[in-house]
Amino acid sequence: MERETLRAVERMHSEGATYSEIARRLSIPPNTVRYNLLPECREKHSEWARRDYEKNGDAIRKRTAARYITHREEINAKIRADRKANPERYRLQERRKYLKHGEEIKARVRSYRTANANKKSEWEAKRRAAKAGAIVGITAERRSEITEIYRQARERKTVRCYLCGEAIPKGQRNVDHIIPLSKGGEHRPSNLAVCCGKCNRRKADKLPEEVGILI
Ligand SMILES: [Zn+2]
Repeated sequence: MERETLRAVERMHSEGATYSEIARRLSIPPNTVRYNLLPECREKHSEWARRDYEKNGDAIRKRTAARYITHREEINAKIRADRKANPERYRLQERRKYLKHGEEIKARVRSYRTANANKKSEWEAKRRAAKAGAIVGITAERRSEITEIYRQARERKTVRCYLCGEAIPKGQRNVDHIIPLSKGGEHRPSNLAVCCGKCNRRKADKLPEEVGILI
């Protein structure tokens, strides 16, 4: 249930409204009202949920994963909003999780990074873009287009530098923001192009016209 609804239930209850009145006014089932106001109902429900997860964990995990694929944006937006509204709760939750599984988490991150070392520049660009506010409201479609650009830059047989025209060997290809993030450029496919190391250093965070390219 939404936190807002929960707060409304609590407010109406403290003002003396009956369960059925609250249910009617908020258009929610009376059971939901009871669930939110009576700790024993919540306990019973979490006990049921725990047993259900024990028994049907695999199916539940599969369902959750499938739903995430089709509703990714919606789910992430909800989490973001909830996180913003309850920062302390999330901090506590993360601290607890880290205390319990810290070593495991670190090992997993390490092995993922080692196995995907060639994606480092892609992640760094994403992090810089997020910091610069350049990926606010990005769609799943655009996200996968960007991933594809980085993949092709890594794997394609021949890739030429968009600045000097030279073929760039694998492992030396830089995906560049044509208009730098620092100057308001976006982390979007039309603002990404591959350049060689030399041109990348020369261009740094200059605008295309500052290094003599007219686009
Ligand atoms: Zn070049």
